[in-house]
Amino acid sequence: MIIIKFIIGTIIGSFSSLVSIRTLRNESIISPRSHCDNCNRRLTPLEMIPIISFIILKGKCHDCKQPIGYLNLISEIIMGCICLQFSLNVNSIFTILFEWILLLISLFDVQKMIIPTKLIHLLLIIVVIQQLINFDFNLIKFSLVLLSYTIISGINQRYSWIGNGDIDIIWIILLKTNLNMSIISLFISSCLVIIFQIASKYDKKRPIPYAPFLFAAFIITNTFVKI
Ligand SMILES: [Zn+2]
Repeated sequence: MIIIKFIIGTIIGSFSSLVSIRTLRNESIISPRSHCDNCNRRLTPLEMIPIISFIILKGKCHDCKQPIGYLNLISEIIMGCICLQFSLNVNSIFTILFEWILLLISLFDVQKMIIPTKLIHLLLIIVVIQQLINFDFNLIKFSLVLLSYTIISGINQRYSWIGNGDIDIIWIILLKTNLNMSIISLFISSCLVIIFQIASKYDKKRPIPYAPFLFAAFIITNTFVKI
């Protein structure tokens, strides 16, 4: 059962990276069929198997030897792991949905530093519906989160500390969890950014896409910290 969950996750992960790449190029998600971006050769069914195809092809197109890139592979592995927590209850399904949308947002952010507003709305809707189903929706908490969000995003628009999409994600995490969990998520994401800056050769002057770090921090906090 674990393997089936992982395989389904990798297929969703593969589809997610395709959606992000094609949307950013203003291409249709449905057609043309999956192909090599360099030589336009259609991929065979064997070359479309998540993770396995990357290993078989050694990360390169079979014909033109153009490197495939790691984005698709990383998306497949992460979504495979996310789907491992699937069980037949509403909360596990909503948590997977929430993390899937965070993955999609991260894919957009990594490629073009764009956080689509539609995905932010979807993330918010998922949280509110889950809370309503669980009879956990607290109007006072919602109002306080909304008020603090309005103030902070207003100040951020003036001083541009971080992207507005990042503020949206932080406040949706605050709405989904609580103040302690969201502060820990924020702290972990900042640590991850610092580690990334030290460990990688990323140009220090280039802005860093923050959504993937918030996504990773949320997964860590949600898995290991329960306050
Ligand atoms: Zn090719």
